[in-house]
Amino acid sequence: MLKLKIGDTVKITAGKDAGREAKIEKILVKEGKAIVPGVNLYKKHVKGFGDVKGGIYDIPRPLGFGKIALICPKCKKITRVGFRFAGKEKVRVCRKCSKEIDTK
Ligand SMILES: [Zn+2]
Repeated sequence: MLKLKIGDTVKITAGKDAGREAKIEKILVKEGKAIVPGVNLYKKHVKGFGDVKGGIYDIPRPLGFGKIALICPKCKKITRVGFRFAGKEKVRVCRKCSKEIDTK
């Protein structure tokens, strides 16, 4: 089970976008990285082709989990993620307020 999920609000803790907050758009499970829209952008030159317009696009680069910190949806603080069993299910909990992070 991963510590971070799509839709989590995270704060960037390292790199040129440090301090920004955004939601995770995609998780690269194998690499342990997340794509956060508008963060860690790089310019990509794209050639026009068919309906695709050529030009320079800002593409978000994946960020390692070490560079992002979860913002707890309950206490709104930056926190580390812990795990707890709720019955048979493993749930994520906030280490600061110990509330469950996942809401179903
Ligand atoms: Zn919390």
